Amino acid sequence: MHQQHQETPTTTTKTMNPVLISGAGLSSLLLARALRAANIPIRIYERDASVSFRGQGYRLRLSDEGLDAIESVLKSPGSQPDAWDEFWAACGQTGGAGFATIDALTGEQVKQSTSESLHSRDGKIIGIARGDMRRIFMRGLEDDIEWNRHVTGYELNNNNNDNTATAVHALFADGTRSPPGSMLIGGEGIHSLVAKQLSGGRLKVYDSGARGIHGQAPTGAFKGLGEGVFRIVETAAQPPSSSSDAAAAAGNGTATATATTTAATATTTAAAATTATATTTAATATTTNRLSIITNVRSRDMHDPSLSFGWTMIAPPGVITTPDSSSSPASSTDRNNVSSSSTIGHPAARLAKQLTQNWHPRVRSLIDEMDDSEAAFWKITCSNAAQFRGVPVWPNDPRVTVIGDAVHSMTPAGGLGANTAVRDAALLGKLIADRGGFAEGITEAYEKEMRVYGSAMVAKSYALARAQFGIDIREDSPTI
Ligand SMILES: Cc1cc2nc3c(=O)[nH]c(=O)nc-3n(C[C@H](O)[C@H](O)[C@H](O)COP(=O)(O)OP(=O)(O)OC[C@H]3O[C@@H](n4cnc5c(N)ncnc54)[C@H](O)[C@@H]3O)c2cc1C
Repeated sequence: MHQQHQETPTTTTKTMNPVLISGAGLSSLLLARALRAANIPIRIYERDASVSFRGQGYRLRLSDEGLDAIESVLKSPGSQPDAWDEFWAACGQTGGAGFATIDALTGEQVKQSTSESLHSRDGKIIGIARGDMRRIFMRGLEDDIEWNRHVTGYELNNNNNDNTATAVHALFADGTRSPPGSMLIGGEGIHSLVAKQLSGGRLKVYDSGARGIHGQAPTGAFKGLGEGVFRIVETAAQPPSSSSDAAAAAGNGTATATATTTAATATTTAAAATTATATTTAATATTTNRLSIITNVRSRDMHDPSLSFGWTMIAPPGVITTPDSSSSPASSTDRNNVSSSSTIGHPAARLAKQLTQNWHPRVRSLIDEMDDSEAAFWKITCSNAAQFRGVPVWPNDPRVTVIGDAVHSMTPAGGLGANTAVRDAALLGKLIADRGGFAEGITEAYEKEMRVYGSAMVAKSYALARAQFGIDIREDSPTI
């Protein structure tokens, strides 16, 4: 039974119902900061028990667009005066070799066209740990967040004469519902049920079949690389290093059959990255990699032995098979919960070591010296890429919309997901702030603009991933 609440009037004064936000991730929190700065009440519902409930370990690269979006919110009138400075101080600025590609087997730097331009401010690559970004965005919002609130959908109050809604309630997994809100913004990531309900099932997230392993090792393991952002690649032309053994090393007997198809799957698929809507930069990506690792060695931290750097390994379908049956939606590893289970550390670490046993010592140290307990599998997903129509159109609801991965989940190629998510937050935050709270037309204007850049980013990320990891999502590919 739903709890009954006294309705409060929906107006655009300070007594208005709060804007309800589902999920306390990056986009939700930045949106909340924008609304807070404009003195608009908010209520955030987060599934996790606390901010540190899951590992927050990986590092985000920030583009010009992403940084501009964050700056526009954190420097907006009404924002905490030191908000931007605090954020900027937490960002690492990596110079050095820039984005260098290293052949995993020879340890030598090679030319590989990635089409990924990473330099943003001052010619440097700007990065920040996801956990740090989240904690900084969260500052001052602590009292507005309700933890352990698993949002499963929403309910509109259609109780006036012309049948337009006067308020919206978030629905929770325990059968209760929230007090009325003036709007509901779904920012709860790739499994968003708000997105499913709002779009009538049009928003889909496909399982690309590709998998990743996230790991971290003490800074000493990265000494051979020097400062910079590195892509370490083993190209598909190289014979796989006994991948059936590798699968077995993951502690999964059933993995063997799929793990032997590695080289066949990972052929030269770059030509396939020519879809009309894919951006031209993606089309120049050339070599499909059997395995690749991206890591970031920052000058500020590289000599501190007490610190660790993270790395992310990505492989085409069939190379990394998770112990829990790779394609079952019920057992999927949430890509945003890279450390969600303490049991996946050691199997993931064993598989990473097995797959890289032929690698050159210059780069193998990253894997050999990893903290096994921190390793985690993750599933590479992409929303609505198969059709290349990007973010689909659904009947607009003036009181409900979606932001971030909930509306455009991307592959890791290009480092676009968080950058696009914060653009959503800044855009929607400004539209709501400019009107002083809920008003007709806000979600429509937001969705119209977001669909353009959101679709372009999904297409770009998909085309890059298709070229780099050999993924091929079709209309009938499994969804999560
Ligand atoms: C290893 C890795 C590396 C990445 N690197 C980059 C990069 O370099 N650059 C980049 O731009 N992007 C990168 N990304 C992508 C980026 O992390 C995501 O795109 C970004 O976090 C999306 O933000 P969001 O606010 O939409 O969702 P999230 O930050 O994932 O937040 C969603 C929140 O909702 C909560 N939640 C989930 N379900 C519910 C529910 N039912 N009810 C309530 N709360 C719920 C979750 O617990 C979470 O707190 C990377 C991702 C991974 C996994």
